Amino acid sequence: MRITVIGGGVVGLTAALRLAQREHRVTVVSADPLNETTSTVAGGLIYPRHAEPADRVAGWTEISVAEFTRLADVPGTGVRLMPGMVLRRGERPVPPWADAMGGMTRDTGVAAPYADALRFTPPLVNTGRYVGWLETELRREGVGFEYRPVRSLDDVDGADLVINAAGLGAGRLAADSTVWPARGQVVHVADVGLTEWLVDEDDFSYVLPHGEHAVCGGTEEFGEDSLVPDPATTQDILRRCATLLPGIERAEVLRVKVGLRPFRDQVRLDRDGDVIHCYGHGGVGVTLSWGCAAEVAELAEG
Ligand SMILES: Cc1cc2nc3c(=O)[nH]c(=O)nc-3n(C[C@H](O)[C@H](O)[C@H](O)COP(=O)(O)OP(=O)(O)OC[C@H]3O[C@@H](n4cnc5c(N)ncnc54)[C@H](O)[C@@H]3O)c2cc1C
Repeated sequence: MRITVIGGGVVGLTAALRLAQREHRVTVVSADPLNETTSTVAGGLIYPRHAEPADRVAGWTEISVAEFTRLADVPGTGVRLMPGMVLRRGERPVPPWADAMGGMTRDTGVAAPYADALRFTPPLVNTGRYVGWLETELRREGVGFEYRPVRSLDDVDGADLVINAAGLGAGRLAADSTVWPARGQVVHVADVGLTEWLVDEDDFSYVLPHGEHAVCGGTEEFGEDSLVPDPATTQDILRRCATLLPGIERAEVLRVKVGLRPFRDQVRLDRDGDVIHCYGHGGVGVTLSWGCAAEVAELAEG
């Protein structure tokens, strides 16, 4: 089948790779260079926090965890397994998808202000590197790339099937007004040899080490769509991360990045005639990417 994937973020690229590996002739169309998508801003923790629909998220997560775990052994992917913890300020149950993550341990011995911590060893994805690796794999599979904005789903010639995986742009293509941006700013600092990642789930602060840099975050500003870094937010992120991990404030600041998460009340993944819609992954697109790609491939052939 000739398949055009609209979207060069992690969702579109992963679907394109799965489809190309199943012998389809695939073209990716992206309005932006691949290294300027929201996907390359993501901190890269595999953790499907608050994602819906809950009944499908566990299955998607399980497939993604298995694939990213395999990629952790492949040189050049930017993926590695690392222990860490999600600190929580209030009592909450262990998430229903804990088993899909390969198991989590609840630790109630953490200091105030935290009530507990979920400890686990997930894949951690250096998304800048990983998107570069995906592009190399896609070219190896013979996938073509076009860089242009698609104005409508009819604006795609010569394809038997179109995958709408355009992140924030997907809502407009599908005439779906329920997709909106949630701005996220992060600060990359030099990684001083950190061996654990840390997340404060209630304060939305996190430190995710990738070897060459650590991603310090973050923000989740619903409805905001400015891609310009805010210096006051940078200082606030560094202050919060220093509370989480004392000493991190002395690490060299390398760069500040901003991305717009494509939020929707739940991920849309369904087939409508010759179009498969796969968008609305909010803050968990990396986490769900391989699971959603597997389902896109099933829908394409089913
Ligand atoms: C600060 C931050 C931290 C994050 N941390 C994590 C994390 O730790 N773990 C996690 O799982 N997720 C995380 N995320 C969320 C993750 O980045 C997103 O869910 C994911 O990037 C969505 O991928 P996508 O491919 O749908 O969209 P995008 O990466 O936004 O890609 C969309 C693509 O569609 C193209 N496009 C749009 N409109 C058109 C059009 N009309 N024509 C042609 N092309 C078009 C764009 O050019 C782009 O190529 C984070 C996000 C942010 C901002």
